[in-house]
Amino acid sequence: MNKLKSMSLAIVCALATPAFAASTVVNCGKLLDVKNGVWRDKVSVTIENNQIVSITPMKTDAASIDLSGYSCLPGLIDMHVHLSHDPKPQVEQLRARLTSDPADYAYASIKLAERTLLSGFTTVRDLGAGDGLNVSMKRAIEAGSIIGPRLFTAGKSIATTGGHADPSNGLSMAMRNAVGKPGPEQGVINGVDSAREAVRSRYQEGADLIKITATAGVLSQASSGENTQFTDEELKAIIQTAKDYGFRVAAHAHGNEGIKRALRAGIDSIEHGTYMDDEAIALFKKNGAWYVPTISAGKFVADKAKVPNYFSPLVQPKAAAIGPLIQSTFARAYKAGVKIAFGTDAGVFPNGDNAKEFRYMVEAGMPELAAIRSATLSAAELLNQSKRLGSIEPNFAADIIAVKGDPLKDISVLEKVDFVMKDGVVYKRPDAK
Ligand SMILES: [Zn+2]
Repeated sequence: MNKLKSMSLAIVCALATPAFAASTVVNCGKLLDVKNGVWRDKVSVTIENNQIVSITPMKTDAASIDLSGYSCLPGLIDMHVHLSHDPKPQVEQLRARLTSDPADYAYASIKLAERTLLSGFTTVRDLGAGDGLNVSMKRAIEAGSIIGPRLFTAGKSIATTGGHADPSNGLSMAMRNAVGKPGPEQGVINGVDSAREAVRSRYQEGADLIKITATAGVLSQASSGENTQFTDEELKAIIQTAKDYGFRVAAHAHGNEGIKRALRAGIDSIEHGTYMDDEAIALFKKNGAWYVPTISAGKFVADKAKVPNYFSPLVQPKAAAIGPLIQSTFARAYKAGVKIAFGTDAGVFPNGDNAKEFRYMVEAGMPELAAIRSATLSAAELLNQSKRLGSIEPNFAADIIAVKGDPLKDISVLEKVDFVMKDGVVYKRPDAK
């Protein structure tokens, strides 16, 4: 692994020097044209700096990187991750809250970012972290200080008092008094003025988009996993203010009323969407809103709910009830024609296992090609990056992965990615052990 890192760093250095902007040629045994939904056999992809410049019939003598025995695809994109934590039993999480500093979380998350990239996800949307951890991680990745996917971050999620993502949840009264009441800067609002201030604080924080927790959640120390947590006025204030700053808004939502309120207010994406009914599905379609399913997180918490003491007594029944429902919600939404962008909620389950989501999507009735499109073309569209990400074509970022076998026949081959290039830099090669 050390050898691999120094190789990547050497390439980073080479690319950082414009005078040596040599081109790289990647020879692919086959390459998935995601737009047309067809394999192209034996092609050469030429890359200059961090961009794809051409795709031609294979030039056998020119290859800098030989992937002639592999299937190449665009780098995968996950719309819902949390790179600043990995799962642990809740007792340990609570202990960590008492004893850890932001830097402890930051150092621990370096390997999570690297694992995510090496599993084939070249771009992710980090939907919430405290203490500016995800914004700092984005800067560290862009500066080449650490290895990770291209990050679009929400900064701190916006919640209401006592709601999902209120950082003071689960603390005793004495502890709450000691840490002080979180306000809009820490992502907690009550009323329209603080809603606007919270969005502006995200702009100041350096976020790329806004995430709100429109309903209760499974893993917070609170009794409900689905109640509605924002008023119509608060939602409108957030979405209007976000538009002023060019932000899109993602809403975590399990409960049906919260899903519908967020959709009526003009939300861009609903995350989880567990209890959506037919009226909610009709609103998705009417507004062109995206659904980001996170089946993986549902399955993981449903499994852990069976492990004694993994969750607190408040959380365990929520995990057992909500977790198993998401896959069937996804099946209904897909069948009804709701736009779906791939998202997993990695961090609730181990970061780097993101590709298992494909298997769950296909199991629920989505064809393999549609599942791959949800993690390439559709995700790029939700990110407002359709001209640069999600496809292997000229003028796009050189984000390429390769696998053995045919993911259109067996989607699980995406769980073992052998080659990863992001922005023209190789991070994983087939021969690396
Ligand atoms: Zn999440």
